[in-house]
Amino acid sequence: MKAWLKFSPKMVNQAVITDLIKNYDVSFNILRADINPKGGKMLIEISGSEAEKGIEYIEKAGIDLSPVNRVVKKDTDLCIDCGACVSLCPVKAISVEKDWTVDVNDKECVGCKLCTYSCPTKAIKVVE
Ligand code: SF4
Ligand code: SF4
Repeated sequence: MKAWLKFSPKMVNQAVITDLIKNYDVSFNILRADINPKGGKMLIEISGSEAEKGIEYIEKAGIDLSPVNRVVKKDTDLCIDCGACVSLCPVKAISVEKDWTVDVNDKECVGCKLCTYSCPTKAIKVVE
């Protein structure tokens, strides 16, 4: 599961994530992070046999967790493979294939919508 974690200023110095990894059978990847002493956000991917328990632990610790439920899909009829969207994706979910077509990987997508603004043919649609 992918989710945004929102840290309040008082949570920034807490060892919640370290304790999570130590105490639960979870794999934890940080995909993006923007945190300073005033708080911030972190985009994570969490999996493993105790992922659900780990999520409960994070929430009980006082970190606001919002699952990523939104992704984008490319309409192949509209896409002209111009590549304008590729470099904008913060998690590298868009790639140019060997045959020069552009692929959007919805497993990697975190639904930020940045790519949708660049598309000249409106080929990228948000799927909730
Ligand atoms: S919505 Fe964001 S994360 Fe998803 S493919 Fe577009 S730029 Fe990448
Ligand atoms: S910007 Fe639009 S048309 Fe260009 S490659 Fe991306 S999805 Fe296709």
